[in-house]
Amino acid sequence: MIDTAKVIAWYRANARDLPWRRPGTTPWGVLLSEVMSHQTPVARVAPIWEEWIARWPTPADLAAAPTDDVLRAWGTLGYPRRALRLKECAQTLVDASDGSVPRSVPALLALPGIGDYTARAVAAFAYGQAVPVVDTNVRRVYARAVLGRPVARPQKAELEWVAELLPADDAAVFSAGLMELGALVCTASSPTCSSCPLRDDCAWLAAGSPAPTADELARRKVQKFAGTDRQVRGKIMKVLREATEPVPQSAIDIVWPDDAQRSRALYSLLEDGLAAQDADGRFRLP
Ligand code: SF4
Repeated sequence: MIDTAKVIAWYRANARDLPWRRPGTTPWGVLLSEVMSHQTPVARVAPIWEEWIARWPTPADLAAAPTDDVLRAWGTLGYPRRALRLKECAQTLVDASDGSVPRSVPALLALPGIGDYTARAVAAFAYGQAVPVVDTNVRRVYARAVLGRPVARPQKAELEWVAELLPADDAAVFSAGLMELGALVCTASSPTCSSCPLRDDCAWLAAGSPAPTADELARRKVQKFAGTDRQVRGKIMKVLREATEPVPQSAIDIVWPDDAQRSRALYSLLEDGLAAQDADGRFRLP
């Protein structure tokens, strides 16, 4: 079982000092942090988030920014389509309203690039609403502490499970606490149960900390990055980000030896609107 008061107390004493958690962060700042942190470690996100919020403190500022500036500022966060989607999201906010970030999950879900997790996270962390927020960390803590076993993948009922736990007061703090507990203590490969606030009531610990199943071990395997099209795309994007003017094909050709893979990566960047080709055949950020 999960004692909400223990999670909240632990979070208040142990939460990392992430810049978007500081007082005064706007809903727009929270939205940026959630999109940036998706699939990227927070340590890499923090400096980029600070730069973005200083340059584009409102959706209107980002909507008005040149796309190449936005992609350069995204830097090496990875999955740069997220930067384009954030700019589209900002434009939608400006077009649809006064540029403010909506409060309700359905209204947030209607924005470009905002999925179910992000909509819930913004509703909870920007507006303090009592909506369940479930990411891989929350899922893992719940699975171990309550079910006593890992769960293979997102579960149909998981939002209901977590909704039932939400306290009347401080629901968003509890949600952030559960997430932080999964990130810092109840980690996938080496949970430090001795310092966990849930250790007295944890079903997995009570069952003798059963070893992970083969299925769970397989899921923990970190996807390899080296040699993937994603790596090649990243190398081409680096050339385009660092160039002060359009570059010839030869500048792209030197980043990767495999012609077919390099062409595929370049074509996909053009398709995704992350790169553009001029009439003279040279390449640049859009
Ligand atoms: S006691 Fe261990 S397994 Fe249980 S929730 Fe805490 S860290 Fe996770």
